[in-house]
Amino acid sequence: MNASKYIYLDYAATTPMDPRVIEEFNKQMKENYGNSSSLHAVGQKSAKTLIKSRETIASLINAERNDIFFTSSGTESDNIAILGVARKNKSRGNHIIISNIEHHAVENPCKQLEKQGFKVTILEVDHFGLIDPKEIEGSITDDTILISIMFANNEIGTIQPIKEIGEIAKKHDIIFHTDAVQAFGKIPLDVNELNIDLLSASAHKLYGPKGVGMLYIRNKGVRDGWGKYIEPIMYGGGHEREMRPSTINIPGISAFAKAVELVKGEMPIEIARQTKLRDKIISYLLDNISDSYLNGHPTQRLPNNVNMGFKFIEGESIVLDLDLEGIGTSTGSACSSKSLDPSHVLLAIGLTPQDAHGSLRVSIGRFTTEDEVEYFLQKLPPIIERLRKMSPLTK
Ligand SMILES: *Cc1c(COP(=O)(O)O)cnc(C)c1O
Repeated sequence: MNASKYIYLDYAATTPMDPRVIEEFNKQMKENYGNSSSLHAVGQKSAKTLIKSRETIASLINAERNDIFFTSSGTESDNIAILGVARKNKSRGNHIIISNIEHHAVENPCKQLEKQGFKVTILEVDHFGLIDPKEIEGSITDDTILISIMFANNEIGTIQPIKEIGEIAKKHDIIFHTDAVQAFGKIPLDVNELNIDLLSASAHKLYGPKGVGMLYIRNKGVRDGWGKYIEPIMYGGGHEREMRPSTINIPGISAFAKAVELVKGEMPIEIARQTKLRDKIISYLLDNISDSYLNGHPTQRLPNNVNMGFKFIEGESIVLDLDLEGIGTSTGSACSSKSLDPSHVLLAIGLTPQDAHGSLRVSIGRFTTEDEVEYFLQKLPPIIERLRKMSPLTK
């Protein structure tokens, strides 16, 4: 398969870097090698670049520049948020509220905390994948220190009622974290309007490099207010106001900022364009493939996410057959697609384990064209038909 002709429809797993971002990345690697903590001119150039990048990234979510903390990934940001808040507040309370469709980067740190005596309420979503804010409010106890609900789901694309959840958290004076790795750069997001205290994002989900992430930490009130409610999970030099020590990755962070600048400019157009393509895929497949259904919410979903169930067959076989046709898709989360367990997200929205195995995630992006979508729509129905003929599950 000619790599340049491969049709990549797995943008939720990761995105190709935008050529303009690669250019920035290369330029910074060559020209800006300094340690931003050094006092000399080379270091100070890096320090300036860092400030500028922080400013650009903060502006996408209406945050203060100094409330952006760079990390190595979305996973690391989630871990700092959850473990850092838990450690700092354990004398105040030991209760955390999450949903049952969180990414493993949120779910698994919570499981670790349970071993250390924390109590975690895992609220169930409805069949669209939506959490009910009233249930969150109903689960709050005197011991609740943190609510962590993802902004948009990586498998089914459902966007949560974050504003309502933020209001509840604020009313009860509870710290609110959201894993916005999928939403950041795809839909408008304002940390003040939504009362978000902590927000995780990752560059590689928006055409930036892998291995660069950020955690927004609201500075509650006075100077160094972060330190009042969260503490670091790593200790070293004083970088990132001691929240995340390690020599600053200037090229990666500059490239992240470039990626943010691009999504900022293109977001309204891309939302409209991708939503149209998304809905075209959904309606075509529902109309042309029997026993098929949409997973997730029909409208309250990411503009680039399609997740469909096809009865009687395995999603994995569909993915492999599409790959032979030069089309890259997924059964769900990239992290769990190598395991045999059905997706916890699809089970959470009420699918049987058998149906959960028969799902296909198609996630589009900036470089997806109408022609590519057409090609995919031609190729998929005969694949489903062939697989169903061979399937022992077909009536
Ligand atoms: C991809 C993803 C992560 C992990 O981000 P990395 O930078 O790959 O560690 C966390 N949460 C969600 C919702 C994601 O989609």
